[in-house]
Amino acid sequence: MFTDTSSSTTVYLLTERDSILAPVCKQLAVFGFEVIPFDHATALLAAMHGKAPFAVIVDGETPGLDLDFHVPLIKRLAKGPLFLSSVGEPVSRQIALLRLGVTDFVARPLPLQKLVARLDELLDQRRPEPFRVLVVDDSESMLRWLDKVLRGAGMEVFKTRSPLDVLLLMERHRPEIIILDVYMPECSGDEMAHIIRQQPRYDGIPIIFFSTEVSRNKQLVARSMGGDDFLVKDTPPDELVTAVSITCERYRRLRQWMTRDSLTLLLNHSTLVEQLEQAVQVCQRNREHLTFAMIDIDHFKSVNDQYGHLTGDHVIQSLARMLRHTAPTQALIGRYGGEEFGIALPGIAPVLASRYIDAVRQQFKAFPQSGNETVFSSTFSAGVSTLAAGMTTQQLMENADLALYQAKRNGRNQVVLFNEAEHHAPPVTPGRRIDDPPGR
Ligand code: GH3
Ligand code: MG
Ligand code: MG
Repeated sequence: MFTDTSSSTTVYLLTERDSILAPVCKQLAVFGFEVIPFDHATALLAAMHGKAPFAVIVDGETPGLDLDFHVPLIKRLAKGPLFLSSVGEPVSRQIALLRLGVTDFVARPLPLQKLVARLDELLDQRRPEPFRVLVVDDSESMLRWLDKVLRGAGMEVFKTRSPLDVLLLMERHRPEIIILDVYMPECSGDEMAHIIRQQPRYDGIPIIFFSTEVSRNKQLVARSMGGDDFLVKDTPPDELVTAVSITCERYRRLRQWMTRDSLTLLLNHSTLVEQLEQAVQVCQRNREHLTFAMIDIDHFKSVNDQYGHLTGDHVIQSLARMLRHTAPTQALIGRYGGEEFGIALPGIAPVLASRYIDAVRQQFKAFPQSGNETVFSSTFSAGVSTLAAGMTTQQLMENADLALYQAKRNGRNQVVLFNEAEHHAPPVTPGRRIDDPPGR
């Protein structure tokens, strides 16, 4: 797997029971969380003095644990949520525990799905991606000032003195806002805004003009050329940061609606295909590997029939999360349709990519799904194709689809790597052979 688990995603677990410990450690690891177990509250507190974990899970029935005494101590040292696993606490007791510092109550057996979903949600809030800002100004000192102010506010800043580099930088860094100087020697800011707006994919990107121009009339002309806001150069730093943050946030939310699937937060179908097309072009140009996998959950209709549509949704979400947490950062992961996913892995050799998809297959199969008060397991089949010289995006996707079809025909719960010569390839699933891909 590609995930780096060394980040601040450590979860401390207080329990003495192996029946809780083993599945939590194993399953949270799949989602990139590292679980450190403790069997005594004092040991947990000592560790927390050393390093605060991302979250704490406490088994309410651990011997020696006095909730009224230990919960406030744990809470004081914890930076994140405190989950308490207990059974049948009356509401009045739950309220008392909430006041002491418990943030979430979890039932037993631990609903791993719910736990992962909650941790995931908290992680997203905790790690807001920095806003990506492109600043264009012919004055080096102004660029330095903007860089310092915006970086100081936690933003990622790309800067250039030449407006002619703007489109290149936009393609490379995908900024979420552009701050444009109005007067530059090579071309003016409003001309530049006009050129940016000519590109359909940049039609919505916010542009803020930043200038010494105080004439309201000239400001309005510049805005009519495609700017969203106009700030004068003596704007105080905090006002600048606020204006940029508000604009970026709005753009981000808008883009999320347009490009993401609401159930899984993965790329939606059209965005996945669009981004895959761009990746195909880049990889063709640079002669780099590009692997594409189509994943389809097996017998999903019967999951819905047996456990209900809501449980079906949870199964879809669990796979989406697994992919998000384990895929390499450059991966493009999308919900292709209902219970189908597409994942593009640029720069990853086909054999490695197939092994990765197969590892996810095994993890997904092992993940305890819950529905109708029972625990069950779900599987998927996948077809993997690889980009060859001169191949189109359409062909790449069709090949993955053919391999997926083959995986289904072979009996499901397996990964098949497309092979041109055979028109269907040997399965990658363990116990069977993985062919080396033809050299590119
Ligand atoms: P196979 O192994 O051949 O893929 O069988 P399958 O049952 O998974 O495939 P089929 O295409 O027959 O059924 C897919 C089902 O997925 C039908 C549809 O109701 C269900 N589905 C599609 N989107 C969603 C969704 O968002 N949530 C839920 N719960 N079900 C969905
Ligand atoms: Mg399907
Ligand atoms: Mg299916």
